[in-house]
Amino acid sequence: MRSERFDIVVVGSGPAGSAAAITAARAGRRVAVIDKATFPRDKCCGDGLTAGALRALEGLGLDPANVKSWEPASRAVVDAPGMDLLELALPGDGLFAVTARRYDLDSALVDLARSYGATVFEGQSVTAVRSCLGGSAVEVESTSGVSGASGASGVPGASGLKLTASYVIASDGAWSPVRKLLGLAEPGYLGEWQAGREYIADAGPLSRDLWVFFEADMLPGYAWSFPLPDGTVNVGYGVLRRPRSRSASSPASPGSSGHGMLRGQRIDWADRPRIAAVLGPAARPTGPWKSWPIPARLGGTPLAGLEGRVLFCGDAAGACDPMTGEGIAQALETAALAVGCVLQAGPSRPDAAARRYKRRVRFGMQVDHMLSRVCSEVLTHPHGPAKALSMVPRRPSATGRFARWMFEDYPRAIFLTPQRWRPGTLGRPGAFRP
Ligand SMILES: Cc1cc2nc3c(=O)[nH]c(=O)nc-3n(C[C@H](O)[C@H](O)[C@H](O)COP(=O)(O)OP(=O)(O)OC[C@H]3O[C@@H](n4cnc5c(N)ncnc54)[C@H](O)[C@@H]3O)c2cc1C
Repeated sequence: MRSERFDIVVVGSGPAGSAAAITAARAGRRVAVIDKATFPRDKCCGDGLTAGALRALEGLGLDPANVKSWEPASRAVVDAPGMDLLELALPGDGLFAVTARRYDLDSALVDLARSYGATVFEGQSVTAVRSCLGGSAVEVESTSGVSGASGASGVPGASGLKLTASYVIASDGAWSPVRKLLGLAEPGYLGEWQAGREYIADAGPLSRDLWVFFEADMLPGYAWSFPLPDGTVNVGYGVLRRPRSRSASSPASPGSSGHGMLRGQRIDWADRPRIAAVLGPAARPTGPWKSWPIPARLGGTPLAGLEGRVLFCGDAAGACDPMTGEGIAQALETAALAVGCVLQAGPSRPDAAARRYKRRVRFGMQVDHMLSRVCSEVLTHPHGPAKALSMVPRRPSATGRFARWMFEDYPRAIFLTPQRWRPGTLGRPGAFRP
């Protein structure tokens, strides 16, 4: 077993983990990243990057040229029964929406973390997280050989690891093994949303836009078709496990859903005329259907453990948007906040790091999530989406503003929190301008 000391150990190298590693490594800290997968690896996702995610990725130094399936979109279309199509032209100054396979994106981010000096251990599954050295550090143990992985790639001779650090950033996804190991997981918790997707090749010309579909039996929830290069699309749907109105009083039973029928299982798009028309007659699946939970309960689960030595980020913190289920921008943001708090507090004040992190998440993100939760109420009613969307005036200035809000160009609740206004907040150019 290989033993080594770091300043920060990051568990999980999805967008949250890589962002944490990059931020800490750029600040000169010794960082290790441990992931049970070997990269590139697939991740069940819609592959959609909002303006918020794109700005954060640009800030981390990501070069889109390193993400093979990077596909910018210039238009989004929302289709709800009982309503004319809502067409949203995205601003032309920089990027506001991109689709990129997580297979490519996450691997590029891991490479970027490595290039900034982080030590990346792939194929290592974390099995223990405990306090050590009289509470002044955390010890993380892992074993190799998971999912056909052959060991710590790029680090020869490491069949298992015992790493010590002042802090652990737990960015290990919706099921967060670290949360379970610390006894902080809620038994039977299955996420607020269940979502699934597949890749479809030979999709027709209409599929070059970003599409969002509301279907009666998917409420509360929606389906999407997001364009990828070469006529491929990522098509899927997400549904809330239980309608909000019931969620406060009645805990979900495992496997329960507000829909009775749809629980993330594959559906045949040919049976859905509006979606089939966008995919076109030649469309055919090119990969397996995959389904995964989406945790959207920021603030409803502990953000820190082991007296502040472990901070949870991204899906492990339940950070996805309660209205859309998107979580990449939120993963990147929580990672930046957590590492910022760790750096500010220093190695000997974990209580201060945890306190700051909770405060920043509360003031910087929770208010947006509360608004999203309220807005998502419209999804619970059969005519809710059409009614709400028909309130958007069909003028370019209004649809443009709505598109910016939808695509997380600024915090959702910015209008309720004037203290977050900055000059130009509502009209900034997009990310990755030439
Ligand atoms: C079907 C679907 C569609 C979605 N579509 C979108 C979308 O279009 N846009 C969007 O913004 N969000 C979307 N999301 C949400 C988004 O996928 C997540 O919010 C995002 O992946 C969270 O990133 P993360 O880094 O927190 O976790 P993850 O990306 O899940 O990464 C966690 C990492 O932890 C690793 N790990 C797990 N256990 C261990 C262990 N024991 N030891 C070591 N490593 C471990 C995993 O291998 C993984 O690499 C979607 C989700 C689903 C399910």
